[in-house]
Amino acid sequence: MIETGICIIGAGAAGLMAACTAATGGKNVVVAESNSAAGRKLLLTGGGRCNLTHTHTGNIDEFIREYKPFDKFVRHCIHTFPPEKLRDFFAQRGLETIVEQNGCVGCVFPKTNRSSDVCKVLTDELKKPNVKIIYGTKINSIKKDDDFTIQSDKFSISAKSLIIATGGVSWPQTGSDGSGYQFAKSLGHKIITPIPCLVPLITKEKFTSLAGVSVQDVLISGKIANKKITSRGAMIFTHTGIGGPAVLDFSRTACEHLQNLKISLDFLPNISVENLDLELTKSFAENQNKTAGSVLYRFLPKALAERIADGKSSQIDKKTRKEIVGKLKSFPLTIAGTEVIEKATITRGGVDTAEIDSKTMESKICKGLFFAGEIMNVDAPCGGYNLQFAFSSGFLAGT
Ligand SMILES: Cc1cc2nc3c(=O)[nH]c(=O)nc-3n(C[C@H](O)[C@H](O)[C@H](O)COP(=O)(O)OP(=O)(O)OC[C@H]3O[C@@H](n4cnc5c(N)ncnc54)[C@H](O)[C@@H]3O)c2cc1C
Repeated sequence: MIETGICIIGAGAAGLMAACTAATGGKNVVVAESNSAAGRKLLLTGGGRCNLTHTHTGNIDEFIREYKPFDKFVRHCIHTFPPEKLRDFFAQRGLETIVEQNGCVGCVFPKTNRSSDVCKVLTDELKKPNVKIIYGTKINSIKKDDDFTIQSDKFSISAKSLIIATGGVSWPQTGSDGSGYQFAKSLGHKIITPIPCLVPLITKEKFTSLAGVSVQDVLISGKIANKKITSRGAMIFTHTGIGGPAVLDFSRTACEHLQNLKISLDFLPNISVENLDLELTKSFAENQNKTAGSVLYRFLPKALAERIADGKSSQIDKKTRKEIVGKLKSFPLTIAGTEVIEKATITRGGVDTAEIDSKTMESKICKGLFFAGEIMNVDAPCGGYNLQFAFSSGFLAGT
């Protein structure tokens, strides 16, 4: 039996930050991680570059609004450990961060562009006599009497306080297999059914020939209960439908209403229908001998342009031109569903936050039990908000 003051299950972003904070107070901390190394998901984030947070407008209240409908719950933890403090944390340990100026504008990455450096700062911080990380240890069950007994196949840990930071159920190959939900349940917590969030969408229409074609700036619109919802940014056609940041964010806003939802894609959101019609009238007239598709190359990737317009420019009459403008500004699609939760960037659902004190991340049901990160029913848009929550909630739980 290993005895400790604080046990943390999970060495992902949230568990590592919780351990760093808890260890600062001098308490004995034991971290149990089922993988053979820390931060397996963290290493994959931001395409291996780790988009750890976002600058937004610089106004913290506006930053917090991005977490809607979970903004009230995250308010205290983000205020306590906001993006600047997170960036300072890494800077003070030798890892400067940079703000993306093109593409994902405002997204914050380590200057080295390596997620492994983010992970290294955290694990180096834990090289202290009062911290023990036990790798290759999958926790199977937890019991609470006066203290917590945390059981693995190999041994048990007795701890005064417990932080569960086991993540959601997305990308289970990284270790987040949902076992944390069973622990929370066994300690009296309600679990909101997990569903995929920030996930590619499957469309009824198939675009196999366009799979892999990406468009840099698309406005996606749909209507749910008479309310227009939109998302803007880069997208990519896939074998089953559409993906990319704008689609992932759209999937989050609409996540409970996606089945059979009709949406439209505006491939040229910076130009009005009228101006585009004028532009195309001129371009087709000036390029009579070229194909209509090639006239669209300056707006769109070749494969998509040729899918939208075929024939010679000289053959494009007014009706056909209006149809092309219609497809460019309002390309209709019907959502058949989402990719499976295993392929989702993040899980919606998890431990019900109504049963967690947002000021401390402590359970309102089980004294001494704390949660950190994606295991809770909190999710946020793409752009660094999910890792910021993992770090901020980890900081609070560790404190
Ligand atoms: C491909 C991809 C890219 C992403 N990119 C970004 C990005 O750029 N920016 C951003 O903000 N967010 C991004 N996210 C989301 C972000 O990674 C998560 O929000 C964040 O990692 C959650 O951290 P966590 O510590 O709560 O959970 P996890 O990182 O999932 O960590 C949980 C840990 O607990 C361990 N564990 C689970 N069960 C047990 C058990 N029973 N016993 C012992 N250990 C256990 C797991 O092995 C794991 O190491 C991305 C997600 C994916 C999948």
